[in-house]
Amino acid sequence: MEWYANIIIDISLEKLDRTFQYRVPENMLADIKPGMQVLLPFGKGNRQTTGYVMEVTDKAEFDPDKIKPILKLIPESITAPNQMLALAAWMRTNYGGTMNQALKTVLPVKKKEAEKETRMISLKMDREQATALYHEMVRKHQTARARLLEAVLTHGKIPYHVVTGKLNVTASVVRALEEAQMIRVERFRSFRNPLQGMKQEKKDITLSSVQQQIVEDIKAHVAQGDTRPCLIHGVTGSGKTEVYMELIASAIEQGKQAIVLIPEIALTFQTVMRFYNRFGDRVSILNSRMSAGERFDQYERAQRGEVDVMIGPRSALFTPFSNIGYIIIDEEHEATYKSETMPRYHARETAIYRASLSGGCVVLGSATPSVESYTRAKEGSFRLYELQQRVEERPLPQVYVEDLRQELRKGNRSILSDKLRELMEDRLAKKEQIMLFINRRGVAGFVSCRSCGHVIKCPHCDVSLSLHNNGKMICHYCGHVEDAVSACPSCGSKLIGTFKAGTQKIEAYLKEQFPQAGVLRMDWDTTRKKDSYEQILSAFANQEADILIGTQMIVKGHDFPNVTLVGVLAADLSLHVSDYRAAERTFQLLTQAAGRAGRGKRPGEVVIQTYQPENYAIQTAKDQDYQAFYDQEISFRQMLRYPPVWNLLVIHMAAATQEDVDAIAKKLAGFVKSSKGLQIIGPADPVIAKVNDIYRKVMYLKGAEYSQLISIKDQLEIYIKEEEITKYGAVQFDFNPMNGF
Ligand code: ADP
Ligand code: ZN
Ligand code: ZN
Repeated sequence: MEWYANIIIDISLEKLDRTFQYRVPENMLADIKPGMQVLLPFGKGNRQTTGYVMEVTDKAEFDPDKIKPILKLIPESITAPNQMLALAAWMRTNYGGTMNQALKTVLPVKKKEAEKETRMISLKMDREQATALYHEMVRKHQTARARLLEAVLTHGKIPYHVVTGKLNVTASVVRALEEAQMIRVERFRSFRNPLQGMKQEKKDITLSSVQQQIVEDIKAHVAQGDTRPCLIHGVTGSGKTEVYMELIASAIEQGKQAIVLIPEIALTFQTVMRFYNRFGDRVSILNSRMSAGERFDQYERAQRGEVDVMIGPRSALFTPFSNIGYIIIDEEHEATYKSETMPRYHARETAIYRASLSGGCVVLGSATPSVESYTRAKEGSFRLYELQQRVEERPLPQVYVEDLRQELRKGNRSILSDKLRELMEDRLAKKEQIMLFINRRGVAGFVSCRSCGHVIKCPHCDVSLSLHNNGKMICHYCGHVEDAVSACPSCGSKLIGTFKAGTQKIEAYLKEQFPQAGVLRMDWDTTRKKDSYEQILSAFANQEADILIGTQMIVKGHDFPNVTLVGVLAADLSLHVSDYRAAERTFQLLTQAAGRAGRGKRPGEVVIQTYQPENYAIQTAKDQDYQAFYDQEISFRQMLRYPPVWNLLVIHMAAATQEDVDAIAKKLAGFVKSSKGLQIIGPADPVIAKVNDIYRKVMYLKGAEYSQLISIKDQLEIYIKEEEITKYGAVQFDFNPMNGF
């Protein structure tokens, strides 16, 4: 069989936006790898140039007789920058967009002015001679020169800024002595270390036998070259982080490095401390609050081999390590692992490719794995590990599901069910703390009946319709439109409409109902200022308030041992967003929210309020039964051909006028219409069809195979170029979106 390599020509040339195919000569077959640099004949004159291997394949892209052979492999060349290049090309292929966008994503921007430099001054001549010169200077009253020389003689090396500062010696004097060959000025780049000055506390933990087995099994498979991604399914507090750290330690012993991805919101001081205690100064972190210069320094330190472990959000994936042993993705189900700008990559998929470049292994962890990952684990393309026992065997909280339709029948129209109100009074009397959770997603307004819980859904897509100001209800998947209703089609009640409850309103209501209680509110409004997020959480942790009310921000991370009651005010808000992941998201949120109760010695209770107590996402969350949830969810996805059973490509279109965006939508819809085996939905108006005077349209393509969608995306990119569509507007691709519309 003949083998070919798809190669990206060296970065100094402009031909970056595509790969070129070359033949792999037989004798190179054993050694060639993605990311490797190679020597090639290029262009008409067969000029020798270098390129980087993206992929080795047996599929010739054109007449095999015309494919030129690679001249030479440049071994030892899978350096970090080459790997990043390979990664960029892979991202471009898999997520669309330009090579330039992909490169900007993977290569940190070098900011010259952000670099920090330290200069050190030392003696350049022998001491005797210098001492003689010093005495001469004193005699001649050259006091500044004398001061400088004396300092260098006594201290050996002194920082430049001390000389010009404390010693009060001018730059021109330093210059004069330097030119007279008396002293030497050396420049060092200094890299800001965000963890500098932290105290390391070694803690000895002996892994439990289950933890130990997982570590040994993963290590054994990796040692045999089986680097399939591993999924650790384990509740919070089951000891996943200890497993990660043990694996990382074994990688470091072999001279390898590790990347740990954590959702930004969970990247707390405590988390960082645990890694620091274990690995000391070999750890660094990235977060969005660092300046561009600080972030760049961390990438530089990694490339220079000063750190072995990088912890951070999505972008930490692009740390230029050359020999990655493990990439850990904690809370792998989180939507923040998906980028919302081009290329719209998913950190999980990207990590798997990134790790493959150096034979590393990806380890995913979650209490509520994404349906995608769990499916792949069941199919065997991921290895599954269960870690279900909490380390200190604390009991799971008692969960009550309260039916809001019943409350209405009893005449209770307030936002608190009788059960929740009763438990709140009990906790306030006992001075225990309460968290109330309101899910803000879905505020876009699905229409539901307060009497019977009926939700108005699209007859084609089985997602809820949203009510618009023009009195129409719209499906944001397919564009289906209905007139708004004034009575419930199921029970006839007039209490039908959109569900609205803001955190601010709830706060006011609580203050009126429980005037003696201290209430803290955490939502988008109250956390806009830097550090306000930490301030609110630490005030609550210090028990400065009895009740914390907030959006999904409050359900993550932090341990509050004094919280013994968690209330979910309206579970339906996330259940009926028009998104095929609505049930999954709801299950995850409810499970996490329940996990907040009873973290300390006292057992916790959870109240979930809903209009649809029979919904499977709510029932399975009540029982904390992931498997039962998964089984129902995957049959829903199968039935409606949603990911991961099928794959979904969203095409976002935007233009400055309605006519332009309509024209683009019409053209692209016409182009894809003839594609075989694809299901096409839309084009339709997205939830927010007009933002900042930009008009938008979306279209969904469903295909059984991801590769089908990549191929249609490639064809569309060519078509868009040919038709010069970008003159009228912009088109973006989003594969298997995390935030559906
Ligand atoms: P997870 O990452 O699943 O939330 P952690 O690894 O953070 O779980 O473990 C929860 C707590 O239990 C931590 O304080 C951790 O130090 C402790 N812990 C984990 N494993 C052990 C063990 N084998 N022995 C003692 N303590 C442990
Ligand atoms: Zn009804
Ligand atoms: Zn629809």
